[in-house]
Amino acid sequence: MEIKLCCCNPKCDKALLVEVNRPPQFGFELAGLANDVGWIGIIDMGKHITAVYCCEACLKTGKFTKNHIIMTKQTPETQATNSDGENDLSMNEKSIYHYLQKNTEFVSPSVIGRDLMPDYNLSSPSAWASPICKRLVKKGYLLRNERGHYKSIMGVKQLGY
Ligand SMILES: [Zn+2]
Repeated sequence: MEIKLCCCNPKCDKALLVEVNRPPQFGFELAGLANDVGWIGIIDMGKHITAVYCCEACLKTGKFTKNHIIMTKQTPETQATNSDGENDLSMNEKSIYHYLQKNTEFVSPSVIGRDLMPDYNLSSPSAWASPICKRLVKKGYLLRNERGHYKSIMGVKQLGY
């Protein structure tokens, strides 16, 4: 399949078609892809942003637009699963994923369960949230740290292609 990398400098309209086996799922894959084709891919951990630029000058502007990847050709199978990036998520998975997108730090499953399910007065909010978080990690939506806390992966999935 082909994807189109678009320079993140909003004033630049450079784009580059790149042939890939599958769309990049994570920010680091996208950044790596950009570097492979001679563009500049950067990951800003602080801002949770992956950006690609066509050249140093565009990178130095420090400007950023989310339009940095566009799918151009898709096989029918990938279209079915990728038409809405979150189609493979259950209601609980979606609510946790969206909740974590608003947090920049790793959050413990107890806090997630308590915040999302306040009405249920769960005896163990962590037991409710943990398995859902683990599924989201498997599906590539969340990161898990060594303490068992979770954070959303701010990658291409979030940018709505
Ligand atoms: Zn550019």
